[in-house]
Amino acid sequence: MVKIKEECTGCMACRNICPAGAIGTKRNENGFLMPVVDSSRCMHCGQCEEACPLEGKDSGRPDPKKAYAMYHLSEHVVSISSSGGAFYALASEVLKQGGIVFGCYLDVKKKMAYLADTDHMPLEKLLTSKYVESYIGDGYQKVKRHLEAGRKVLFCGTPCQAAGLSGFLGKDDENLLLVDFACGAVTSQTFLRDYLRGLERRFQSKVQEVNFRDKHYGWGQYCFWAKFENGRVYRKTAMSDPYFFCFLRSSMQRFSCHGCRFAERHYSDVVLSDFWKCGHFLVEGNGRRGLSLALAMTQKGQEALESIRGQAHMEELDRAEASYHLKARSCPKDKAPEIYAHQACAAQHGVSVLRKQLLTPRKRLYYAVRQFVMDRPKLAAHFPKLVGRGQLM
Ligand SMILES: Cc1cc2nc3c(=O)[nH]c(=O)nc-3n(C[C@H](O)[C@H](O)[C@H](O)COP(=O)(O)OP(=O)(O)OC[C@H]3O[C@@H](n4cnc5c(N)ncnc54)[C@H](O)[C@@H]3O)c2cc1C
Ligand code: SF4
Ligand code: SF4
Ligand code: SF4
Repeated sequence: MVKIKEECTGCMACRNICPAGAIGTKRNENGFLMPVVDSSRCMHCGQCEEACPLEGKDSGRPDPKKAYAMYHLSEHVVSISSSGGAFYALASEVLKQGGIVFGCYLDVKKKMAYLADTDHMPLEKLLTSKYVESYIGDGYQKVKRHLEAGRKVLFCGTPCQAAGLSGFLGKDDENLLLVDFACGAVTSQTFLRDYLRGLERRFQSKVQEVNFRDKHYGWGQYCFWAKFENGRVYRKTAMSDPYFFCFLRSSMQRFSCHGCRFAERHYSDVVLSDFWKCGHFLVEGNGRRGLSLALAMTQKGQEALESIRGQAHMEELDRAEASYHLKARSCPKDKAPEIYAHQACAAQHGVSVLRKQLLTPRKRLYYAVRQFVMDRPKLAAHFPKLVGRGQLM
C-alpha cells in the first residue's frame, strides 16, 4: 500500500489505479488535496505503489528534442490564452481528428478547479492558467477508456499530473499526446475559495468569471481579473492582488512544489511555457500579447508541434538555450521554514492579512501607487519604468 508522504503531489495515480476503490481524496488542514486510504478495503495488491511517480523508477525526460517559439495567428486566440496559444493550437488539431482534450476548468460558482474534457464543454473553457490545484477525481480512468476505444486524447496538466497519468497507464499509447508546462507551483482551492468569497462580500455580488492571466495591462504583467454578477469588475496586477502576491511569494504553495522534481524532468511529449526572453519576437507588438515556448520532448511531441504550423507563427530555437529558459521559469524553491506559519496565517486571517505581513509599508505604498498609475493610461505613458514591461498603451 502506498505511503502518503509530505512530498505527495496529489496526482491521484494511486486513487485511479486502486481496484478495490480503497483510495479517496480529502483536503488537509490548508485545503490541499491528499489521497486517503481506507485500509479495511485494501487487498494489498501493491498497484498504488507501482503507479506512484514518487516511488517509480522512471525519472522523466531531461532534455527537449526540438524547441520552438510561437504565437497563434489568431489574435483572438492569443488574447484568451495565457501565453501564445500553443495549447489551443495543439488541442484544435486533436479535435479535428475526432479526439478529446482534457484540461483544467475553473467552476467559479463552486469555486473549484477540476479536470474536465471537451466532450462536456467547449475548448475555450479549458484555456488559461488557473493558479490553484485541480481536482483529478477519476479522470485518468476516463482517459484510459477513450484510449482503449481507439480515440486520440490530449491531456494537459501540471508536470506531476502528467507523471501521475503516465504511472497510472504504465505504458505509452500512440493515441495519447501528453502536454504539461513549466510549473512554478499550485496553491490550494480553499485559499482561492476564501479569497473569492471575500471579494464577493466586498463587491456585494457573486463572482461570474475569473482570469488569472488577464492581458489588459499587457501579457508581461500578471494580472488577476474578476467579473461579478452585478456587472462590477475587479482587476489588479499580481503584486497588488493579495492572492496572486502570496502565491508568487511561495507562501501559499503546496509542500510538494518546493524542490519538485517533476517540474525539472518532464514525463510529457510537449512542454509549454511563457517565453519572456523573446528578443526579436517582440516585432509588431506580438511580445506584448503573448508568446509560447514549446518544447518537443518526444518524437510524438515533435510531430504534434509540426502539425500546428498552419495555425501559428513558429520559429525553431536553440535547444540548450530553450531548455535553460524552461528550467529558469519553473523554479520551485526549497521549502522555506516560514511556509508553515504563512499558510496558517492565510488559513486563519486570509491572504490580505498575509500580504500585509510580507510587505513593508513602503513597498505596499509603492505597489498602490503603481496600480493607480497603471489604471490611468495617459499617466502611465509618462512612467514607463514604473509600469514595467508589456504595458499596452
Ligand atoms: C499552476 C501553473 C503554474 C505555472 N507556472 C509557470 C511558470 O512558473 N513559468 C512559466 O513559464 N509558465 C508557467 N505556467 C504555464 C503558463 O502559464 C501557460 O499555461 C503556458 O505557457 C501555456 O500557455 P498557452 O497559451 O499555450 O495555453 P493556455 O491557454 O494557458 O492553456 C494551458 C493549459 O493548462 C491547463 N491548466 C491550467 N491551469 C491548470 C491547473 N491549475 N492544473 C492543471 N492544468 C492546468 C489548461 O487546462 C490548459 O490545458 C504555469 C501554469 C499553471 C497552470
Ligand atoms: S494496495 Fe491495492 S488495494 Fe490496497 S490501496 Fe493500494 S491499490 Fe488499493
Ligand atoms: S500516486 Fe500521487 S497522490 Fe498517490 S501517493 Fe503518489 S504522489 Fe501522492
Ligand atoms: S511544482 Fe511540482 S508538485 Fe507543484 S504543481 Fe508543479 S509539478 Fe506539481
